[in-house]
Formats: sequence, structure tokens, C-alpha cells
Amino acid sequence: MPGTVFLVGAGPGDPGLITRKGLDCLRRADCVVYDHLANDSFLLETKPGCEKIYVGKQAGNHTMPQEAINRLLAEKAQTCETVVRLKGGDVYVFGRGGEEGAWLRREGVPFVVVPGVTSAIAGLAYAGIPITHRGVARGFRVMTAHDKGGGLTDLDFSSMAGTRDTLVFLMGLSLVGEIASRLLAAGKPPETPAAVISEATLPAQRVVTAPLSELEARVREAALPSPALIVVGEVVNERETLRFFGEGPLGGVRVLVPCVGDAPSRLGELLRGRGAFVTETPVRRIREIPGVLTEEDVRWAQALVLTSRRACAFFFAQLFALSLDARALANVRIAAVGPGTEEALQSYGLRADLIPEPHTGAGMEALLRRVLAPGTRVLYPKVKGLAPELAEALDSFCALRAPELYENLPAESAALPADAAFDAAVFTSASAVRGALELFGRDALAACGRFVSIGPKTTAELEANGFAAAEAAHADLGGVAEKLEELFS
Ligand code: SAH
Repeated sequence: MPGTVFLVGAGPGDPGLITRKGLDCLRRADCVVYDHLANDSFLLETKPGCEKIYVGKQAGNHTMPQEAINRLLAEKAQTCETVVRLKGGDVYVFGRGGEEGAWLRREGVPFVVVPGVTSAIAGLAYAGIPITHRGVARGFRVMTAHDKGGGLTDLDFSSMAGTRDTLVFLMGLSLVGEIASRLLAAGKPPETPAAVISEATLPAQRVVTAPLSELEARVREAALPSPALIVVGEVVNERETLRFFGEGPLGGVRVLVPCVGDAPSRLGELLRGRGAFVTETPVRRIREIPGVLTEEDVRWAQALVLTSRRACAFFFAQLFALSLDARALANVRIAAVGPGTEEALQSYGLRADLIPEPHTGAGMEALLRRVLAPGTRVLYPKVKGLAPELAEALDSFCALRAPELYENLPAESAALPADAAFDAAVFTSASAVRGALELFGRDALAACGRFVSIGPKTTAELEANGFAAAEAAHADLGGVAEKLEELFS
């Protein structure tokens, strides 16, 4: 019984533009057969032991003939349960997915198509160009500039000259001059708006717009690299209003966010919203140590101290595992280190009685010293082994129990992609600093240029390792974003 081949579209390059179904397939895959992709960070998503086979095709450089790819897919399905055939954009938009599907059908190998976000539409959108627009273009045509014979011979330029539909050419960068002159010769007005979008949806995205008659000269001048899309039509004018990608206070700034635990982080979301190009990589892994909290701990406590969203999540996981719920905390004073931790707390139906200012461990200690009677029974769930300062301080004036509910372990993820380049790296904990050093090494990290830290402990860790840090004015994610803006404005 052969396995199943999933023909998966990876989208145009932005790793966020693969579909959920596509990503699920990728994570399950025993074998991935992939093309030259605009972004190969997807390969980091595969499980350990997954076989990865490059059959990449770039213009003029066919690594493996199509026939051989077809045979490879059928062959891999004999030994693997899940084979993923990963292609850029959508599988059926000039991706030869149809040929692969037909071959698999003939061979009796089950296959599933997972459509992708095509560059022909999404690439335009990221350049601020809607492929249709009410009153401007009521349709579109997507064409390849390369047919079997390698050129433009089969395209019907006279019908293209006569339409208001948006025209999109793929695989056409080297033929941009010929495309323009054929359109002009067929009667397309020379002032028709046109654009070339290079490396669409990626940090390196560049867009050149020009009237059709000047397009080639302007594209040569800008020396745009492939892959690129050529767009011809009035919709190009909408870019002035609709451009968004890489715009904003952090427009175009490339930021590395080493994460403790799973990416994507809230910080990534926040920075992207301000125009930054964000790469998030897990540098440490978090694992629960189950069954540590006891019912007696909860009954004993007069105060509960929560210093992170994560501590909050593991505390409630273990509380529920004891068949208790928020009512067990009815008479317990709760301190949360900052607004993020309080937000997590509220999701369990509780509010914080105490929030220190500043939102740091030292702030928490100072506050509790002021408000708690000596000897108060304090429960402080924490990470195993690390960050002992607050526990030591509390122990000196309270009755303390500090159950270690989770541990912080080395990550399994790989090194940074070789071609990655960053303007800044942002750290939200000392542990992220240590993890990034372990995983990437000092030189790769130093190449990130500027370093932003969320607070004093993170700054100290950076400085101890020889990196000058710009520290957020307030120790939360908003503070980090503001500090970055300050550095790059
Ligand atoms: N199946 C793909 C297209 C494959 S043909 C899709 O649906 O997008 C390859 C061509 O797609 C390239 O020559 C280029 O014209 C276009 N292309 C793919 N990704 C692109 C990107 N990130 N930026 C610009 N053009 C891209």
C-alpha cells in the first residue's frame, strides 16, 4: 500500500503565506521533494529524520528533468507514508503540478493537492497593486513569458492591447523589453502604467513602476534580480494609495527575534505591524515538569506571585490537573509582574491585586516588601534552576514555596540561514541571549548590528558577552518596539 503524495504550494516567499494545511503536511512529512523556493525556511519545519530532496529548477538550470521528478515521487511513496512535493506559489500556476498528478494517477499512487498563494496575485498585493479594482480592471490574465519554445511566440498581444484587464507575466524578467515592445506594437498606449516586482513578499522586495514605454530602461537601471513579476494595467496606479509592505515607523528594518519557546511571538506580530521584517527563531525549548504543584501548596498559600505569561499558564495547567480551579485562589492575593502576565491571568477569570512598577523582578521584590506582612505564605511558581534572585529575596522575608513547574532546555532548531542578514536583534530575556549564543555563535550574532534588550537582566547578559545593548524604557514588548523605532528613525 503506497503512501500519499501531497502536492503543496509554499506561497510566494513570506513564510506566513503557506496555508495551514500545507504546513501541517510539511510537519508530518517523511520525505520532502522541493524546488528552488523563494524562501527555504520552510525546511526548518520538517520533523527530525525527514528526508529532504532538492530537485530545484531555476531558469536555464534544470537540476532534474520532470520525468525523473515524477518517478522519484512515485518511488518515495512506496516507502514513505507522507511525501510532500513542495513548490513555490501555487502548484498549478506554472508549477507543472498537473503533470506530476497525472503521473501519480497512472502509477496508482494516491495524491492530494494543497493549493498555495500564488505570486501572481499575492506578489502584486504586497506591492500595493490590487489585481482587479472596481471601475479600473474587471479581470486579469496571468501568463508565462516562457513557453515550450522558450519565448513569447504563442501569446496573443493584439488581444492584450485591446483589453483593460490586468496583465501579469511570470518568468519574464529577461524579456521585459520584448514584452513591452510587442504590446506597444499591438497598440497598447505608451503611457499605460506598468510595474516590475522583484522578490515579492520578501524583505528584499523591490518595485519599479513606469509607463509601459519606459519600463525596460527603468528596470535595467534598477538592476532588479529575479524572481520577478511584470504587471501592465491601470491598477498599478493604486500602489500610491495601497502600498503597505515594509512601510511604517520600522519600515524595512530586518529584525532577528530569538525566542524562548515557540515562535511566532507577540513581539514579532507587533514589530511586523510597524513595518519591520521579522525573523523569529526558537533558541531555547520549554518543557513542563508535570505533577509538581500540590493541592496542599495551593491551600497553604496566602499570596501568589506570577512573573510571566508562561509561569501563569503552567500554574493553571497544574491547578486544573489537581481538579481545582480559580476558586481555590479566592482568598489568595495575586501579584503579576506586568500587564502581559495580568492579561494571561484574566483569561482564567482572575485579576491581579498587585502589579509592580517597574515591571521587573526587582520591582516585584520592592513592592512585596512594602505590602506583605513578614512571614506571609507566598507561592511563586517558576522555571527550574534559572533566575534565582527573586526567590532568594522573597525567602528572606516571607515563607516561600517556589515549585519549579517547567524547564528551559536547548532548542533543537538549526542555524540561521546562510544568506540571512539583519539590522538588529531583539532579546526579551537573558535566556534568549544565552540560547542565541549557543545556537548561532558569537560572530553570527555580532553581524546583527544593533542589540535591543527588554530590561536590566537581559542587558547585563548581553554586556557580559561583549554586546552593547539599547534597553527599553519600560520592560514590556511595547517598550522594546519603541526602543527599536528610536534606533532606526
Ligand atoms: N507556481 C508559482 C509560479 C512558478 S513560475 C506561483 O504560483 O507563484 C516562477 C515565476 O513565478 C518566477 O519567474 C516569477 O515570475 C514568479 N515568482 C514566484 N515567486 C516570486 C516572488 N517572490 N517574487 C516575484 N516573482 C515571483
